[in-house]
Amino acid sequence: MLKIKDLYASVEGMEILKGINLEVKPGEVHAIMGPNGSGKSTLANVLAGKEEYEITHGEVFYEGADLLDKSPEDRAKEGIFLSFQYPVEIPGVPMVNFLKTSVNEHRKHKGLKELTAGEFLKLMREKMDMVDMHAKLTNRSVNEGFSGGEKKKNEIFQMALLEPKLAILDETDSGLDIDALKTVANGVNALKSPERATIVVTHYQRLLDYIVPDFVHILYQGKIVKTAGKELAHQLEEKGYDWIKSEIEN
Ligand code: ADP
Ligand code: MG
Ligand code: MG
Repeated sequence: MLKIKDLYASVEGMEILKGINLEVKPGEVHAIMGPNGSGKSTLANVLAGKEEYEITHGEVFYEGADLLDKSPEDRAKEGIFLSFQYPVEIPGVPMVNFLKTSVNEHRKHKGLKELTAGEFLKLMREKMDMVDMHAKLTNRSVNEGFSGGEKKKNEIFQMALLEPKLAILDETDSGLDIDALKTVANGVNALKSPERATIVVTHYQRLLDYIVPDFVHILYQGKIVKTAGKELAHQLEEKGYDWIKSEIEN
């Protein structure tokens, strides 16, 4: 589904990613962890297609095609969801309208029939239960005046509605309380299927108490220095990141 080959990326002339290799297959959940400043968000941003990052070497394939060539919009249409896709506030546009439009755009791209208002409401109710989203939020304008936790819920709710093939969630922003962590985890767990995959970028092991990853990768100084199963996250919780650093330096 996703294949990253020897990827190097810079920002403002500074090399941040220094040879990332990663393969994600359908059905898998990958966690990317690592100390602050190691390049986790840079990797997520590069996959999202953010402009300020320059790819200096390497390739990324998504479903066999060159991902780096595609616009962020095309990446989204082709089934990639990025957690920071719609962080903006859109005054005057109720969430429910925004979501219906975006679900129908995705359906059109997949060659599916557009949902009627009634069909969309039914789908929305189903997904709302899943992430414990309050109906009052969907009637408000997009993200306008939402608290941090509400924005997070909203984002995961969008993900649940769009049912992306590949979800990439950058959860490094601190300040996620237990409720928000559970929301993220419920969304990721509900999305799990043999056709879909998720990459969760997180500094904290805590999130992985609720999401069970198939693989945990440690990103350190722009490289993936260790890959293992979910037990690696627990090791990190016990021992912190220092042992990784000394393991690498020796
Ligand atoms: P992580 O998410 O692992 O904490 P980041 O990818 O956010 O790491 O950052 C890696 C390094 O790249 C840091 O030194 C950070 O300051 C730098 N960096 C990331 N994005 C930018 C940017 N837009 N402008 C300047 N420096 C950046
Ligand atoms: Mg950081
Ligand atoms: Mg980060």
